[in-house]
Amino acid sequence: MHSESARPAQGTGTGGPTGDGTGGFTGHFIDGEWAAARSGRSYPNRSPWTGEVLGAVAAGDADDADRAVDAAHRAFPGWSRLPPAERQQIFLRAADLLLARRAEVAAALAAETGCGRHFGDVQIDFSVRLLRQAAQLAYRPTGELLPSDLPGTQAMAVRRPVGVVGAIAPWNSSLALGGRASIGPLALGNTVVLKPSEESPRTGGALWAEILHEAGLPAGAFNVVTHAPGEAGAVGDALLASPHVKRVNFTGSTATGRRLAEKAGRHLKRLVLQLSGQNPLIVAADADLGHAVDAAIYGAFVHQGQVCMCARRVYVERPLADAFTARFAARAAALPTGDPADPATVVGPVINEWALALLDRRVKEAVALGARVLAGGHPRPPCYPATVLTDVPADAELAQAETFGPVVILEVVDTAEEAVARANASDLGLAASVITADPRRGLRLAAALEAGIVHVNDQPVNDEPHMPFGGVKDSGWGRFGLGFAAEEFCDLQWITTRDTPRPYPF
Ligand code: ADP
Repeated sequence: MHSESARPAQGTGTGGPTGDGTGGFTGHFIDGEWAAARSGRSYPNRSPWTGEVLGAVAAGDADDADRAVDAAHRAFPGWSRLPPAERQQIFLRAADLLLARRAEVAAALAAETGCGRHFGDVQIDFSVRLLRQAAQLAYRPTGELLPSDLPGTQAMAVRRPVGVVGAIAPWNSSLALGGRASIGPLALGNTVVLKPSEESPRTGGALWAEILHEAGLPAGAFNVVTHAPGEAGAVGDALLASPHVKRVNFTGSTATGRRLAEKAGRHLKRLVLQLSGQNPLIVAADADLGHAVDAAIYGAFVHQGQVCMCARRVYVERPLADAFTARFAARAAALPTGDPADPATVVGPVINEWALALLDRRVKEAVALGARVLAGGHPRPPCYPATVLTDVPADAELAQAETFGPVVILEVVDTAEEAVARANASDLGLAASVITADPRRGLRLAAALEAGIVHVNDQPVNDEPHMPFGGVKDSGWGRFGLGFAAEEFCDLQWITTRDTPRPYPF
């Protein structure tokens, strides 16, 4: 994600009555109840495709965040001690409830975030699997017995939930990433305050509150605080500063993540950071051309390039370069572009006009510096068509920063090893992929890539709830993924007990 795509602050109206998240007003969800912002303010939530106002949203601030944290703090003892079978049933019920609402949720994702049918299904399927896998976390062993050199001492390492977890999620995969930020921490016995993006308060927040509470989650265990565009800082700062919040997880841009990490340092607060990517897709000369083109098209343009794992740079070994370039550019130019609710659409609208303007500016700058446009290259508001550029100079913004949209850079290389070296020159290291007929070479290249995630013979946009998702370098630290979440969202307590008195030297 790139912070420059965020809307600047805008005027906010006064809030309507406390909503239930369904009647045109999306309130906070605090202590099991829908609530307006205490200030009474709200803001209009607009569809990126039609521009229509979908409803008003509570414009929260630090005061609202504190209320949510207090509720989560009060709910923690009860939730963390609930028997595993009861916790398990809640997540299983929530999965069924989400599945039963698939069509409505997909429509809401399209309306609120411009998310097309395919990526809507990806998000819903991920979220259902997340809930079902989380349901068994309650039964995972909670520690180990450890040998001690002290005769008569029994030692153990006991995993304990930490308390309140703050979760800050982006708009681009609002349902899946709001869920990923919250469900693992909850399933481990923590309580959660989720701050969705101002672009996706409903599909990234309110919807989760509806489903989890209909499934029987106790009041206060899961809370949502929304805020107006440009006002995320007040809520984020409140989460970082509260002594009750023991961990914060963040998915978003490197620029925002860096700011949060600096503030978190002051409070000695542990973060999980999942940040920007500048992800390479490397095509070796021995690759199957059709598969390589299909993979690159999907990896670069799924959800109009607004996924942190999207391929931003495609490197092709020289012997395959001409054939690959011709087919890749032709396919990109022909991708159906427009209404996200039309199942045939591949490239829907970008999230807002600032994102569109940023794409336009960066492509124009690259072209002015000598880049050649092989496909796309001109905005079609509110869409930006799939765009392929080559000969992008290293000093162009496109070559340096993550550009969150359907624009990909194509580069010809003599060897895949050269591509690895070029990719590793980036400060970012989230995802990467290698397409080759030689899987052993693929694994060697994967080992050489400075990336938290590498897929051989696939494109880079993949996630499964139990996988160790996360980046290296400026793409962040910590791992999401239910199998690994315990390390992030629990503490280990060393406990010893003796069955005999111990002899002391004095
Ligand atoms: P993007 O530009 O893709 O929206 P951001 O990093 O700006 O990426 O946004 C990701 C999430 O971070 C969103 O929920 C956004 O509201 C939130 N955010 C933005 N600025 C701040 C901030 N100063 N403190 C806390 N959260 C923030």
